[in-house]
Amino acid sequence: MGRKLRFILITQQGQIMSKSPIKIVIIGSGPAGYTAALYAARARLNPILYSGFYSGPAGGQLMTTTDVENYPGFPEGISGPEMMEKFRKQAEKFGTQIFPEDVVEVDLSQRPFKIKGQNNSCEAHSIIIATGANAKRLDIPGTNEGEFWQKGVTACAVCDGAMPIFRDRPLYVIGGGDSAVEEGTFLTKYGSKVYIVHRRDELRASKIMAERAKSHPKMEILWDSVVSRVEGDSVVRHVIIKNVKTGKEEKREAGGVFFAVGHVPNTAFLNHQIKLHDNGYIKVVPGTCQTSVPGVFAAGDCQDHVYRQAITAAGSGCMASLEAERWLATNGYD
Ligand code: NAP
Repeated sequence: MGRKLRFILITQQGQIMSKSPIKIVIIGSGPAGYTAALYAARARLNPILYSGFYSGPAGGQLMTTTDVENYPGFPEGISGPEMMEKFRKQAEKFGTQIFPEDVVEVDLSQRPFKIKGQNNSCEAHSIIIATGANAKRLDIPGTNEGEFWQKGVTACAVCDGAMPIFRDRPLYVIGGGDSAVEEGTFLTKYGSKVYIVHRRDELRASKIMAERAKSHPKMEILWDSVVSRVEGDSVVRHVIIKNVKTGKEEKREAGGVFFAVGHVPNTAFLNHQIKLHDNGYIKVVPGTCQTSVPGVFAAGDCQDHVYRQAITAAGSGCMASLEAERWLATNGYD
């Protein structure tokens, strides 16, 4: 790899915006992306960060979270959006340039790597992928587009829970993890009652969250149960709940159905140019952020299907940036 490659930033119209070398491009703007940018900026690597746009809110999943109570340093808790605003400001303060757009394509087959954004494209020596993961949905009759999707069925209670259609109605959250409990708790502000529909007889959620769900006066857990169908007119009116042990089905009044069944990593745009696990998460060398392509690093939820916390994402963003910095220096790009 030669020292003399120059990096140009070009607009979709082909205009040259900058002849400055781009050493690190960061794709994604959750805790991992902003932390990687902060470290890269402080290392004087002049990072560019694509923060996303249509693919989801800049700031990632924390933008649709209520109180974050487990991020050290905030003993009173902090709202997800407020925390991400602080992360963004800190990354920008040290010189990160942010493009509020999605990356639609990358070409990792040649060096410098090519990154195509919706409006701005560029070339870079190294890339940190921090595109996170998105909420999954299940293929339940009545929940799809053209049925009751966004007419009472959603995958984000925090985004949609305050809508009038949910007020004082029975609401159903599908899932048994921390998200299901968190979203259910949030929905108790609006619904007449919140039912957590869980396919097993034990919650996956952490103990403290599970206790919260079990003791909340407006929450009830429907154990060993799945939603087998959603029905309504212009909006959701009923759910059919099936007990998976007895096979018995029950039609219940419903005002809303909320998916909280985990996530899928946002790695499709990579077009399999780096190695992925079977579940779509990026493979990294254990204990590092190195992907199968030298010079490409991955941080946060797009490579972590185990911990998936803001603090672990931020930690891996820091690791990715330090590793990229060393890689650039070792390969003569410093
Ligand atoms: P999760 O922990 O993977 O839980 C997904 C839940 O959905 C599980 O209970 C799972 O059931 C259920 N599920 C999956 N596929 C299903 C299907 N086909 N049909 C019915 N149910 C299905 O996901 P998460 O709750 O989104 O949490 C992700 C990570 O974020 C976790 O590490 C969590 O601790 C963290 N988180 C933390 C907080 C917080 O601390 N404030 C809040 C939200 C999330 P099984 O249990 O049977 O597998």
